[in-house]
Amino acid sequence: MHSEMFIGGAWTAGRQGATRDIVNPGTGEIIATVAEGCREDTQDAIDAARTAFDSGIWSGLPVAERSALVLALGDAVETHAEELATLESLDTGKTLEESRWDMADIAGIFRYYADMAEKDMADEPIDSPIDNTQSTLVREPVGVCGQISPWNYPLLQASWKMAPALVAGCTIIMKPSEITPLTAIRITELAEAVGFPRGVVNLVLGAGNPVGAELAESHRVDLISFTGGIETGRTIMQAASGNAKKIALELGGKNPNIIFADADFDTAVDYALNGVFFHAGQICSAGTRLIVEDTIHDAFVAELTRRVRSIKVGLGMEEGTRMGPLISEQHRGKVEAFIASGLAEGATLLAGGGRPDDPSLQDGFFVEPTLFADCTSAMRVVREEVFGPVITVERFSSEQEAVALANDTNYGLSAGFWTADPERQQRVARALRFGTVWINDFNVYFVQAPWGGYKQSGIGRELGRAGLEEYLETKHVFRNLQPKPLLWFGG
Ligand code: NAD
Repeated sequence: MHSEMFIGGAWTAGRQGATRDIVNPGTGEIIATVAEGCREDTQDAIDAARTAFDSGIWSGLPVAERSALVLALGDAVETHAEELATLESLDTGKTLEESRWDMADIAGIFRYYADMAEKDMADEPIDSPIDNTQSTLVREPVGVCGQISPWNYPLLQASWKMAPALVAGCTIIMKPSEITPLTAIRITELAEAVGFPRGVVNLVLGAGNPVGAELAESHRVDLISFTGGIETGRTIMQAASGNAKKIALELGGKNPNIIFADADFDTAVDYALNGVFFHAGQICSAGTRLIVEDTIHDAFVAELTRRVRSIKVGLGMEEGTRMGPLISEQHRGKVEAFIASGLAEGATLLAGGGRPDDPSLQDGFFVEPTLFADCTSAMRVVREEVFGPVITVERFSSEQEAVALANDTNYGLSAGFWTADPERQQRVARALRFGTVWINDFNVYFVQAPWGGYKQSGIGRELGRAGLEEYLETKHVFRNLQPKPLLWFGG
């Protein structure tokens, strides 16, 4: 496998020849050494993507031809799914089973957009109110797109951006997280093998600043699509303002999970765990903020404590592991600081809170599954995105109070609630201010439904038809069938 960047159809170590070691977060071992790009490398990639776009070699192809290549890329992902899943687990620490689900989803995402493009990009007549005229709505690709993705779902998040951009006719420069670049390198190899024209798919590697920053700042980039944290999102918004480029932002979340007393108790307990501990809580939509009705609170928390304590922590590649490590030493430090803040602010620690004592896990970046009760919405651990295996529990006594607590956040990515009452299901689903609301479930997503955040969880939507529209401009073409002088300014 390559370890370089892919710019204008060629693999390159970059102008400075710098490298970065990639670490397995479960063992601390170096698993690869890859190119570390600089600002000039990003500029080279932008040049390549700009030239390819402006030449029309890609945007000028019939949609069916673009879709065929995107479909072929989906097939290639399926063929290489096991290899990609293994790379993803070694790079992120998540269980191999979770990475396999990701790869199946990714193949489906390429197929979905390949299928959608032809019908959804067709010209549409517009009813013109003016006699002897004709109006048409034409959809065209936005242009050169910078695509910056995070480390938690490296290839999944990249595919949400790649597939719609490519079918739309855009050219792309992908910038994976510098700590998890391996599957992005591998899919670029697959794209090269499938035969995308030179300069259509480009890959740059390296730190957010300068490599990603250049994408956000460049006046020759037409759109920046970013998935990552809120602080980086704000920086990117400002950088993008230089040429008023389009922005699509998928940011963080602090996602409530409300348990009403009439919920199916065992399923709600099970999903309170599923909502948080997959990928050690490093999920933007993790339901880390549990809000439980008074009358069942104590029984619910007791059962949750028992279950949290029994979660099998281990290496992602090992059979039987249910939760892997955090992504890095630095990130573990951040999560541990949140746990310390919970204790300092008066939350009651019922499970976890430390590092596992298993001697075989000492070199990895593990934190125990952690449960805090007696929490309030004033605590930092309740308000801010921890991005780790930590659940906090608050209690409520009325539906109104539950909704008010859940909405009391700057974020608005996703929320779930559990109740058997159909009328309450309708009321609460409407009252919650989040981009996705789950009733009696948690963390379900699929390619047909849009994904994105209210409030500070982002701007725009990925997936679904909305995910394609991010990459399209709409043009109104107006034709006068009988032009004649108006003579307003005299004859
Ligand atoms: P991050 O913001 O630190 O980094 C994300 C990407 O941005 C990386 O590729 C990084 O190199 C790049 N970057 C950093 N500084 C930059 C700059 N100044 N200019 C341009 N690019 C820059 O986020 P992370 O720690 O990799 O990912 C975790 C965050 O991602 C969490 O907040 C999580 O909620 C969020 N996330 C959101 C979604 C969603 O769908 N809403 C999905 C996954 C992750």
